[in-house]
Amino acid sequence: MRLSEEDFTKIPWHDIVALGTKTMLYRDTFTISWLLGRFCNYKCSYCWPYARADKKDHRPTELCLKTIDEIKRQARDQGFNSFNWSLSGGEPTFHPGYLDILQHLADDEHAKRQRIHMTSNCSRKMKWFETYIEYAQKFDKASITASAHFQSHQIKRKALISNKNFWKAFAVTQSKLKKLRICSLRFTDITFILLIKINYGQM
Ligand code: SF4
Repeated sequence: MRLSEEDFTKIPWHDIVALGTKTMLYRDTFTISWLLGRFCNYKCSYCWPYARADKKDHRPTELCLKTIDEIKRQARDQGFNSFNWSLSGGEPTFHPGYLDILQHLADDEHAKRQRIHMTSNCSRKMKWFETYIEYAQKFDKASITASAHFQSHQIKRKALISNKNFWKAFAVTQSKLKKLRICSLRFTDITFILLIKINYGQM
């Protein structure tokens, strides 16, 4: 392990007046991390128990929309008017009102800036993502953390190299990426972040 050559004892602690990211310190940004439900269509052995469920446990869409309004009301009371929304689950794309939630967020003309982030296993069909892009492009910035769970594709680690299904699954992931990249060009912002996490798990 390489140790830092900085002498941290020389940091002028008494001169530091604030510590944080630029977005948090100098903008009126309010960040919301929201687990939309625990339902997930995958069953990865390494998933932590409270993170997934077989049963759909989504809150009613109408309640979610009211919750959004209340979050914004309270945030605005405290002087925040830019919002970073991070939606996850379970697998958040299975919330029946997912796109309604995005639309409701995007309909807010009073927000100074809104960003949307999603963590997904990307198992939905490409058509779903194309629709998602239509909605997400109304935001100032959109990003996806895409987790590839090969275990849930029922692929055995031992047979990975010789198993043509693995390469088929890999190719599907690759082709999705290409299409997502093309779709991303339609975003108004200059960035579209797609972070790929590959979880092989224990097989
Ligand atoms: S895809 Fe994610 S949430 Fe779903 S079972 Fe696997 S680790 Fe858990």
